Amino acid sequence: MSTTPRLPPAAAALAAIDRHHGNPLELLQVLREVQEDCGWIAPEAMDEIEKGLRLPRGKIEGVASFYAFLHTKPAGRYRIRFSNNVTDRMLGGHVLMDRLCRSLWIERGKVSEDGLVSVDTTSCTGLCDQGPALLVNEGRAIGHLTEERIDRIAELVRGEVPLGDWPAELFRVDDNIRRRELLLADPVEPGVAIDAALARGPGAMLDEMKASRLRGRGGAGFHTGVKWEACRNAPGRTRYIVCNADEGEPGNFKDRVLLATRADLVVEGMTVAAFVAGAKRGFLYLRGEYLFLLAPLRETLARRRAAGLLGPSIRGAEGFDFDIDIHVGAGAYVCGEESALIESLEGKRGTPRNRPPYPVTSGYLGEPTIVNNVETFAASAIVAIRGGAWYAAIGTPVSAGTKLVCISGDCDRPGVYEYPFGFRVAEALADCGAQSPQAVQVSGPSGYCLAASEFDRRIEFEDLPTAGALMVFREGRDMFQVARNFVHFFAHESCGFCTPCRVGTSLLVRLMDKLARGHGSPYDFAEIERLNGHLHTLSHCGLGQTACNPVLHTIARFRPAYDRRLEHEEFRPGFDLDRALLAARQMTGRDDRAAHLAQDPAEEAP
Ligand code: SF4
Repeated sequence: MSTTPRLPPAAAALAAIDRHHGNPLELLQVLREVQEDCGWIAPEAMDEIEKGLRLPRGKIEGVASFYAFLHTKPAGRYRIRFSNNVTDRMLGGHVLMDRLCRSLWIERGKVSEDGLVSVDTTSCTGLCDQGPALLVNEGRAIGHLTEERIDRIAELVRGEVPLGDWPAELFRVDDNIRRRELLLADPVEPGVAIDAALARGPGAMLDEMKASRLRGRGGAGFHTGVKWEACRNAPGRTRYIVCNADEGEPGNFKDRVLLATRADLVVEGMTVAAFVAGAKRGFLYLRGEYLFLLAPLRETLARRRAAGLLGPSIRGAEGFDFDIDIHVGAGAYVCGEESALIESLEGKRGTPRNRPPYPVTSGYLGEPTIVNNVETFAASAIVAIRGGAWYAAIGTPVSAGTKLVCISGDCDRPGVYEYPFGFRVAEALADCGAQSPQAVQVSGPSGYCLAASEFDRRIEFEDLPTAGALMVFREGRDMFQVARNFVHFFAHESCGFCTPCRVGTSLLVRLMDKLARGHGSPYDFAEIERLNGHLHTLSHCGLGQTACNPVLHTIARFRPAYDRRLEHEEFRPGFDLDRALLAARQMTGRDDRAAHLAQDPAEEAP
C-alpha cells in the first residue's frame, strides 16, 4: 500500500510469486500484489510472472486487462477514484472531484505529467452510508468527503506524504448499525456453532439447515440446505466452500459491516458448511474495494487456527480438517456472479460460465463447491446454534429469518438495518428518517424502482426479494438522471464477453445521453423496448438481462422526467447528412451549393 515502489517490478513479481508458491491459480493475487508494490504491472514484472507461473503471456495480459484495479500502464503514485454511485453524486461527490482536479492541476482520467497522481471514478466504493467517498490506491477508503477533507488530501498528495503517514482519521470507516435482530445482536462466542454441528453430526446438521428454510441472501434466494445437500451428494474428489464477499451492487454494504463486526460468525458458518459437505478447503473472496478489511480478517483466521477452530482436527474431531484462504478481487462487478467469481478464484478473467453445470456439482477446479453470500453463512451459524425450527419461526412462511438492508440516499440515518422478513418498505423509510421520499430503488440498479404508492410492499421473497440495497430519493430528485447513472454503471461493468450486452448497454447509454441533451423523440421509447428484448433474451448473465430495468421502471413511474427531454412530440429522427459533411467541407475548402447535400428529396434545393 505504498506510494513509492518498494521493489523494482521484476523483484516485486518474484516476491509475489514466491508468496504464492508459484501457483498459476494465484495469478490474480500475484498481479494484485505487484500492482500494490509498484503502482502498475510493468513488462519486466510480466516477464517474471510468465516464467515463474509458467503461463502464456497472452493469458497474463488478458487477466491484467480485465480488472479495473490493475494497470498495465503507469497510473500515478497516488491513484484516487471517486465513487460514481448515484447516492455519492447526490451528495456532491463529482463536485468534490472537480475541486481536487483543479487543486492538483490535472484532468480527470489522466495521469499528471510528473507521474504523481491520477483522479478518476469507480463504480461504487461500498461506503454509500458515509459518502461521498473515494479510494486511494485501490483499497484505502475515505468517506465523509467535504471540501475541507478534499483540500487536505490535495496537500498530502502535493507533499508526497507516504500513504502510511496520512492521518488515520481520514480512513475511519463507520459501521452504522441502526437496527439489530439476530445476526447483529450480541456477538456469538467463537466455536459455539461448530460445537452444535459436531454434536449433531453432518447428516442431522444438514436436516436442521433444510428445516430452517434459510434462503441465499445474495439475491437469488436458493434454499441453502438444498444447495449444501447437492454439494455433499455430488460425485467428486474433493469439495470447496466459497464465501462470496464481492458485494459490488451499488447501494449495498451489509457484507462490509458483517465482515467488520461479525467475521467470526461468517467463518463459523463456512466451517459448519464444510462439516456438512465434507470440504477441506474454503475461500473468502473479498471485493477489492474492501482491502482495508484484509488485515483484520487475516487476524480472525489466525486467531481461530490458534484456538483449534480452523486447520486440522477442528475441536479435536478426527478428519474434520478445514482451512480458509482469502482472495482479493480487483474491481470487477461481474465477479459477484458465482461462476464468474470461481473463474476469478482460478486466476482467470471473471467471465460467467455456462450453467448448468452449477457450482454445486462443478465449481472450483470442476469440483463440487458451495458458494454462499456472507450474510447466508452468518445466518447458517445461527441455525446451527438455535436449530432449524427456531429459525424457521422467524419471518414469513416463504422467507424465514431476518434480512439486513442497507439504506442510503435522502435519509437522516443511513446504515444497516436488520428486520425479520416481511417488513414494509414504509417501515424502513420511517426508521431511517427518509426525507419526503418520492422513490426507493430496491436491490440496486438491476432491482425495482418503487414510487410512493408502492411503499406498502414488503421485503420478502413473496414480494420484493433483495440482496439488501434500499436507495431513497426525495421529492425533486430527477429520476431520469438516476436511471441514466445506472445505465452507465451497467455499460461500464459489462465484461464484454457477449455481444448483446457489450453493444446493447453502450447503445442504451447513447440513447440516455441523447435524451439528456434534449434530443430525444417518442421513437426512443420504442428503441428502448427493442433493446430490452435483445438484452433480456440474448445476454449470457444477469447483468445484461437486467440492464434496461432502471429505464423501464422509471419510464413507467416517472414519465414526465423523460417527456420534458423530448425535442417535441412530432420530432422525426433522421440522419443530418449536411451536418455530417461539415468536416469534409472544411478540409476541402469547398462550401459551394453542390457541397451541401440534402437528405430528404422533399428538402432538395429548387
Ligand atoms: Fe459479460 Fe454482460 Fe455477457 Fe454477462 S451479459 S457475460 S456481463 S457481456
